[in-house]
Amino acid sequence: MVDPVRLKPRRPCPICKKPSTQKFHPFCSSHCSQVDLNRWLGGNYAIPAVESEEGTDTDLDIDPQKD
Ligand SMILES: [Zn+2]
Repeated sequence: MVDPVRLKPRRPCPICKKPSTQKFHPFCSSHCSQVDLNRWLGGNYAIPAVESEEGTDTDLDIDPQKD
């Protein structure tokens, strides 16, 4: 079984979701192709930046008794 979605001529850039170009396929630009490459080479593909941002922010900043 072949997924019909894969046969679409144009897929969005996996980095920024913009329409990809033929020149930099499957990315939209040389920048995004480099970003993807660096992700794999650098081994930092899964940085939990978003998660830690929500968890630590309130603990450090909110201090109602301090004045
Ligand atoms: Zn892109």
